[in-house]
Amino acid sequence: MSEINPMPLPLLTLHEQMIACRACARLVEWRETVARDRRAAYRNEEYWGKPIVGFGDPLARILVLGLAPGAHGGNRTGRVFTGDRSGDWLYGSLHRAGLANQPHATGRDDGLQLTDVYVSVCVRCVPPGNQPTPQERQTCLPFLEQELALLPNIRVIVCLGSFAWDSAIRLLKSRYPVAKKPTFAHLAEAIVGPFRLVGSYHPSQQNTFTGKLTEAMQDAVWDRVKLLSSASFA
Ligand code: SF4
Repeated sequence: MSEINPMPLPLLTLHEQMIACRACARLVEWRETVARDRRAAYRNEEYWGKPIVGFGDPLARILVLGLAPGAHGGNRTGRVFTGDRSGDWLYGSLHRAGLANQPHATGRDDGLQLTDVYVSVCVRCVPPGNQPTPQERQTCLPFLEQELALLPNIRVIVCLGSFAWDSAIRLLKSRYPVAKKPTFAHLAEAIVGPFRLVGSYHPSQQNTFTGKLTEAMQDAVWDRVKLLSSASFA
């Protein structure tokens, strides 16, 4: 595992701006309500209860894009896909693929390091029912746009679920032509400007418990993505 690359100052500054954001009244209220009420299992923990920033290798070629932080995952621990079953699934699969130094993600100080992968979300505050409104997505997407602009090597964007797929296309089509909106599917691919989008079913419990997303299907995503990210630089 290579040394982790430190976050550059512009990215850290952007992250500070994200964490201070209170633009969406409904989401601010919800993230703080969840943090105050807490799940019984985490009663004695102090929840993060703020927006979530991206995490990983700032020199990554692969951006993994989720919907929003989990109520008792990212919203609790303060790191994207950390502290819930979706995160266990995601980082477990990245570890199998050689892109993470460990399979578990329990908290911001758990030692997790990603190589060539940066993980972020479309909406940075936990939404009720995991469903942000179109206006909330529109309000938050500029943060992702700014984050992407500060990740100079990204070539492949892995969209976890149709919401992330639609959001990535929405964000990129303002700068690059998209003739016909590509349809989301597991392992779907689309070229938008300099980026290759790859679809993956979201590693939600609903998908992983029912077998809609299996480990083999998830591993196939990373196999393909590693090939594409290398090919982009050939
Ligand atoms: S969802 Fe985004 S824009 Fe809305 S309050 Fe959270 S960080 Fe700010």
